[in-house]
Amino acid sequence: MSNRARQGRGLTLSLGALLLSLPLSQLFAAAPPWADSARAGHAMLTRLCDDFGGRLTGSVANEGALTQLAAELRALGLQPERVPFSMPGWERGADHVELLAPLTRPLRVAALGYTSPHAPFEAEVVDIGAGGVADYPTVVTGKIALLDPACALTAREFSQLAFQRGARGILFIDREGGGQLLARTGSFVGEALALPVYSLAQEEGRWLQRLLKRGQTVRVRVATKSQCRVVKTANLVVRLPGRSPERLIVGAHFDSWDLGQGALDNGIGTAQLFALAHALRGRELAHPIELIWFNGEEQGLWGSRHAAAQLGAEPVIAMINLDMVGVPIAVNALGDTTLVPALQAWAQKRSPAALPRGVENINWFGSDHTPYQLAGVRALTFNGPIPRESVRFYHDFADTIDKLPEQMIVDSTAVIGDLVLTLATSTTLSATRRTPPETEKLFTDFGLERRMQAVGYWPFKAKP
Ligand SMILES: [Zn+2]
Repeated sequence: MSNRARQGRGLTLSLGALLLSLPLSQLFAAAPPWADSARAGHAMLTRLCDDFGGRLTGSVANEGALTQLAAELRALGLQPERVPFSMPGWERGADHVELLAPLTRPLRVAALGYTSPHAPFEAEVVDIGAGGVADYPTVVTGKIALLDPACALTAREFSQLAFQRGARGILFIDREGGGQLLARTGSFVGEALALPVYSLAQEEGRWLQRLLKRGQTVRVRVATKSQCRVVKTANLVVRLPGRSPERLIVGAHFDSWDLGQGALDNGIGTAQLFALAHALRGRELAHPIELIWFNGEEQGLWGSRHAAAQLGAEPVIAMINLDMVGVPIAVNALGDTTLVPALQAWAQKRSPAALPRGVENINWFGSDHTPYQLAGVRALTFNGPIPRESVRFYHDFADTIDKLPEQMIVDSTAVIGDLVLTLATSTTLSATRRTPPETEKLFTDFGLERRMQAVGYWPFKAKP
């Protein structure tokens, strides 16, 4: 027997002793069935999309789909909990914009969220370019402003400016062509828009711009029954137990826009979260995992604001946000450096081809990680590009399940699941919160104050 063989047997014996000292579930813990779980997530999402439609928060479709998701989680032996909250919501009624001159035909429009109902009226259309102060022509009073997609202002800013200039409404040309019609919110704080704003198909918008440039008179008749109303809704939470009280939160917004099926935005995250629940149930974990499907994201991060406000001083390792994450090419520490070493260690274990950009550390604003960040919690997400032929349809009528290949959920869940499991089984990570000055710096370092101010998140106020 060679020395090497003897060492080998010694290793086998001590490994055996180690294995016997572990709980039975850990002893037989094979790698989670990521691919099967991901396929179950995609199948579940297909039912949500086709049986209920777009999941605008507060709608019958959203409520039906949330009930269905809870039932499917219970069928896995899990105990999903509804956490109700209410928010200033909005519902779409009939939106009509008809061209009256130089010819008559209906235009392809959808009111922006928080447009209020109004009686039909007729008005002349005037081109306001990108909607900045310098872009306005002299006379706007009583007219409908035609706004270019190059506009850099938030809906609140451009609608208030047009209102102050005396405009009666806005036609906002879509950034995507091909007859697409984009839904989006006009407010992140739940306030009614100062005047009605309609998304307009790009080709029709360009046509009106050309007519106006040639000095033609363009007239339209507009009307909508869309309206603001307070809605009752809920987040859905699944808790997977762990040995320590320090939890890992993984969240994805469940709500979507109403014109399509919300398959991409954010059916992707909804399916990935379901796949995590499917794969990780019954597993021995060092840290409990809280899986949370948020509502109200599209209209102002209402669900994650509610959840983050309820955290109090609970110990949290990190919050991982899954909002339209395709197959990851990097994990993003969102500006907080303290988790970077753990993420780098994880990334190095993977083959470079499996995560080509490794660890990024760039904060951005506009999804459910922000309320957690503001509460001092470390947040993460992934850089997971979605192919152009799919992603172009988000918020559109064509955001439907046929744009989401099952393989994208399979490939992305393998990466996301591996990181979640690595963090949840780590014995070296512990919960922490940033101090208020550190949190403030997280946003100022990336110049996010202006956009956050426009939606009521700035100046930064530390939570008591
Ligand atoms: Zn989204």
